[in-house]
Amino acid sequence: MGVEKPAGKKAPLMSVEEAIGLVTAGVSALGVEQVAVALADGRVLAQDLPARRTQPPADMSAMDGYAVRGADIAQTPARLDVIGESAAGRPFAGAVGPGQAVRIFTGAVVPEGADTVVIQENTSRDGDIITTTAPTAALRNVRKKGCDFTAGTPGLFAGRRLTGRDIMLAAAMDHATLPVARRPRVALLQTGDELVLPGTGTGTGKDSEIVVSNAFGLAALARRAGAEVTDLGLVRDDLSAIRAVVEQALSGAFDLVVSSGGASVGDHDLMAPALRAEGVELFVHKIALRPGKPLMFGSKSGVRVLGLPGNPVSSHVCAMVFLVPLLRALQGDAAPGPATAPARLAVDVPANDVRRDFMRARMDRHADGSVHVTPCASQDSAMLSVLAAADCLLIRPPFAPAAQAGDPCDIIPFDD
Ligand code: AMP
Ligand code: MG
Repeated sequence: MGVEKPAGKKAPLMSVEEAIGLVTAGVSALGVEQVAVALADGRVLAQDLPARRTQPPADMSAMDGYAVRGADIAQTPARLDVIGESAAGRPFAGAVGPGQAVRIFTGAVVPEGADTVVIQENTSRDGDIITTTAPTAALRNVRKKGCDFTAGTPGLFAGRRLTGRDIMLAAAMDHATLPVARRPRVALLQTGDELVLPGTGTGTGKDSEIVVSNAFGLAALARRAGAEVTDLGLVRDDLSAIRAVVEQALSGAFDLVVSSGGASVGDHDLMAPALRAEGVELFVHKIALRPGKPLMFGSKSGVRVLGLPGNPVSSHVCAMVFLVPLLRALQGDAAPGPATAPARLAVDVPANDVRRDFMRARMDRHADGSVHVTPCASQDSAMLSVLAAADCLLIRPPFAPAAQAGDPCDIIPFDD
């Protein structure tokens, strides 16, 4: 499948909305596969899903009691002959006539002739005779055939990211497997001469080493967004080394290549030159965004490339804003996000500049249900302790004026 080059213009600092538009432009599901309903949680439904049966399949009792004709119990007390039993999975073969009742249990088919169930608590029984002890309205305690869903009617729709509740419905509609979008295959690579893997640092005398963190967060976000993730490891700040890994990543095994680091304009920021040298056309580079200004996006022969900044907080925030919606769009998700929610500021905040700010923040829920948001004290794009302690991003639009505690704002709640 080719990637259409969106008709975008290059500006020194592109707006976040324009960049999201370019990243998700023309994106649709990569393909369809059948998965067992038990494994479909979080997958995106590829086709409308009609019910394969009617539920309930017949009028069924919602309670334990007696199936009767409503007209027979209009007066209390009413005396009825018990002529048999209907249990879940074991229906009564005959019909209920005037003056008759059938012992019935929750989930059992209401026998022919009956239209009402009197709960057992409202009866007294003497041998095969029951007497009602309290009134029951006609038609009570019966779940009508098809009141939940009917055969042939779609119960779930294409583009829905399936929840546990959805797969319950799909299973009840008699689907053993579900058609879902295939998982996007994502390759991750991290560049930086200073980077070492956790537990492998050389220690003393190596204060310039940094233990990598980005790919762990990126992989977590990508997997939760439905992707299959391959970590291509660490790459030195060397043009030919980066090119070699990029070439491998673009070879067709992946739908999306996500890099972190080397995205800025320093002498050792080689990601853009390496991508271009490998034939990647970059249509997003440098966004009016904080954190994450140096973000890049492009494609080559249908393979998309997202170049994230190296600073850990920037890489993660950019992944929430760009990577997760892109991965969802690549599965045909009807609501790829990023999903924002309304909240109120808990404190005063200053006016904003040209960049859309995604501030790490914490939410407080008040008794009236309103959510009040406090930005974290440090907004340094390298501080992972702050990112881990935050539970949402507070969005400050470009050129937003100073705002006071209590003013409305938008947030992106963390959902992991
Ligand atoms: P860069 O985008 O390469 O200029 O990196 C910016 C900052 O992020 C530098 O301080 C790097 O050490 C740090 N950094 C880059 N890549 C990673 C990574 N994968 N994990 C943690 N920190 C990183
Ligand atoms: Mg670097």
